Amino acid sequence: MEFEEVRFEEDSEKALRNKSLQKALVNVTNRFRSARNKASEEVPDWEGLRTAAREIKKETIENLDKYLLMLEEKVKKAGGKVHWAKDAEEASQIIINIAREGRVKSVVKSKSMATEEIELNSSFEHAGIKVVETDLGEYIIQLAGEHPSHIIVPAIHKTKEDISILFSEKLGIPRYDKPEELTKVAREKLRGEFLNADMGVSGANFAVAETGTIAVVENEGNARLTTTVPKIHVALVGIEKLIPRYEDLSLFLTVLARSATGQKSSTYVSFITGPKRSTDIDGPEEFHLVLLDNGRSKILASEETRESLYCIRCGACLNICPVYRQVGGHSYGWVYSGPIGAIITPQLMGIDKAPELPFASSLCGACKDVCPVKIDFPKVLLELRKKVVESKMGDVRVGGAKLEKLGIRLWRFSVEHESIYKITNKLSYYFQLPWRGSNGKLNSLPYPFSRWTDQRDFPAVAKKTFREKWKEIKSETG
Ligand code: SF4
Repeated sequence: MEFEEVRFEEDSEKALRNKSLQKALVNVTNRFRSARNKASEEVPDWEGLRTAAREIKKETIENLDKYLLMLEEKVKKAGGKVHWAKDAEEASQIIINIAREGRVKSVVKSKSMATEEIELNSSFEHAGIKVVETDLGEYIIQLAGEHPSHIIVPAIHKTKEDISILFSEKLGIPRYDKPEELTKVAREKLRGEFLNADMGVSGANFAVAETGTIAVVENEGNARLTTTVPKIHVALVGIEKLIPRYEDLSLFLTVLARSATGQKSSTYVSFITGPKRSTDIDGPEEFHLVLLDNGRSKILASEETRESLYCIRCGACLNICPVYRQVGGHSYGWVYSGPIGAIITPQLMGIDKAPELPFASSLCGACKDVCPVKIDFPKVLLELRKKVVESKMGDVRVGGAKLEKLGIRLWRFSVEHESIYKITNKLSYYFQLPWRGSNGKLNSLPYPFSRWTDQRDFPAVAKKTFREKWKEIKSETG
């Protein structure tokens, strides 16, 4: 399934009307938020850990060339092969070529945002190679022919009932309503896929430069099977996923698990260094590391927004974001959603492809407060907004920008001229009356103001101005 263009405004309006999506989003994000809060409070110096994680990522990203070459050398030394992919097309082609050379007919995949980013499943399908997602959420999404809507919970937008109907329709089985029954069905289907697969494709949460090790974090055990059972393992990893030292892993695994799901540690953490050695009892015969740029170098070149590359994909910023919690992941139009999607998508895809996203934020800063690597979202968002405005995309794509400018100019003119300000105040009271509701709010204003009142309240203008009330009080109290 291929991604279309970003239409945040249009898609978020649809999402706001979808009651079952609203329910699913609130339930899941609330659960993750409280688990994350509890897990972070248990750690004596949580702030210190976040600061340390940020410092390490900063140092890595600022010396990325050095660490990437170190990683390449270590992976090769461990018997693996390293491939460099400048964009999505090249990355897909490299992986398809590896599959063809290995006479691969069937592929199992564990959850990986990088593979979503390059639409690897479509490339496999075009090449006539069967590909099966093995993470439960991703399996559901693949059956439904949809895209993930959350970094760590890909099927967050689906209710238990949706999944029951989907399994019944796509797998030709009776309706099961209990989550355990549905999980059992998926597990039984997937076991056979693991055993038949010739290739396993994973991402990596971290790639350690000093040892050439990739770390894969998960809770279901499917990634471990994906990376050990088939004879070929391909790991597609964004170049920003590096950390310098093996010892850094303990810090990053701590902040990742607690920020993502509120767990002290994820259930399975696999450390993979090259292919199977003669002393290993299992593992792939071939290990390929595909290092993906796909726009990351451009981000690296921008001093103001470079910190977007620090992200370790925990999903905490999504769970706290008042915008994501209402509109869900699909409104962001591409792989990445929530605050991280709002900053990374315009930079990876090009600002002209997603000019609405930097504006999909109230700039409340809640994302910055929970981010384990302290990405300064408000700063990056404002920088990107500036770029949108400078590129003139704002006037064309960001609804109401021209109108907003005009409104602000008129407002400034009126407050600079006292008599005009008084008249405008009086007139606005009478002007609003047709839309004034019994609740004292303005309801259903005409277009373009309806874009606000369709979803939110707008306080009505009071009959008496503050100045008039002040005068009255003064005269009463003498
Ligand atoms: S930006 Fe921060 S909070 Fe959001 S997913 Fe990345 S690491 Fe997690």
